[in-house]
Amino acid sequence: MNTTRHNWTKEEIIAIYNKPIMDLLYEAATVHREYHDPNVVQVSTLLSIKTGGCPEDCGYCPQAARYHTDIEGNDLMSVSQVKAQALRAKSSGSSRVCMGAAWRNVKDGPEFDQVLEMVRTINKLDMEVCCTLGMITENQAKRLAEAGLYAYNHNLDSSEEYYKEVISTRGFEDRLQTIDNVRKTNVTVCSGGIIGMGESIEDRAGMLVALSSLNPQPESVPINALVAVEGTPLEDQKPVEIWDMVRMVATTRIVMPETQVRLSAGRTEMNREGQAFCFFAGANSIFAGDKLLTTPNPDVNEDMKMFELLGLKPQKPFIKKMQPQTVEAENSEYQSLGEKPKWTRPGHVIERNLEASQKEK
Ligand code: SF4
Repeated sequence: MNTTRHNWTKEEIIAIYNKPIMDLLYEAATVHREYHDPNVVQVSTLLSIKTGGCPEDCGYCPQAARYHTDIEGNDLMSVSQVKAQALRAKSSGSSRVCMGAAWRNVKDGPEFDQVLEMVRTINKLDMEVCCTLGMITENQAKRLAEAGLYAYNHNLDSSEEYYKEVISTRGFEDRLQTIDNVRKTNVTVCSGGIIGMGESIEDRAGMLVALSSLNPQPESVPINALVAVEGTPLEDQKPVEIWDMVRMVATTRIVMPETQVRLSAGRTEMNREGQAFCFFAGANSIFAGDKLLTTPNPDVNEDMKMFELLGLKPQKPFIKKMQPQTVEAENSEYQSLGEKPKWTRPGHVIERNLEASQKEK
């Protein structure tokens, strides 16, 4: 068995990415079989618990308040709404619910308390619970862990260099800081990125260097293909070619053999053959449900038909790690600290972000 390395260089990763596709697929599939059952795929359902109105300027995101998109914003969902959706997800084969809120960072207060209650509620349904809420402090990570959180998602998005071409309202180092805060608990880390934003292969490799050098490496790495949404700065980007996706998945599998590589946004653009190549190359997780936060996703019945056709089985929850215990709010050993951390605001100008925010609808 290979041993997991944390010292991959950009040059080594580029060389893997550019291998003849038959060699790349063979190598990735071999690593995949050493570490995982190739016929089992983990299924997550992504719920947007608070949509739109985000103060950040991520160039790919229709939820940023400054861009003129057709997204309908929503206040934070209630715990009972979330519970109903989680039960539906469970009955259609999902083992994990991932709750996303369009926030820059978590603020202590009633809304965070409500999210903690959602975490407790879903964990009690014996499903893995993941949250993606923006930047969090160590204390907030500990409170989420105590509520029964299984995973925290915080994507690096791209290489450190290209990140500056996409987002100007926060720094790459803050992403790493949040991941570090999560690592002070027993919550697993989900962190990946997006391809198709105009980045080079060097940038894709740079992102994989950053992710693979984390020790431990993230337990889950989502690979998204940009869904170019009208009104966002990246609206004119061309769709990602399937072979770029396959190469990215295969390279991720080779440099992070133990992680679950997640096929995320952009699956509606892929046919079954393309997705089958991604599974062969080492993808072993998908998002199910008709929407990924705000962008379209294949229908769950279609996914189940694809699983049947390919002989894939959905992974049961808590196979990789034991179910966390939920501590009720009244027994919590942590308090809301009301911290106001100084997350970075680099504030450099990204022309296309500026133009998109100034455009008339
Ligand atoms: S990706 Fe997240 S942080 Fe960035 S604008 Fe969208 S919701 Fe806000």
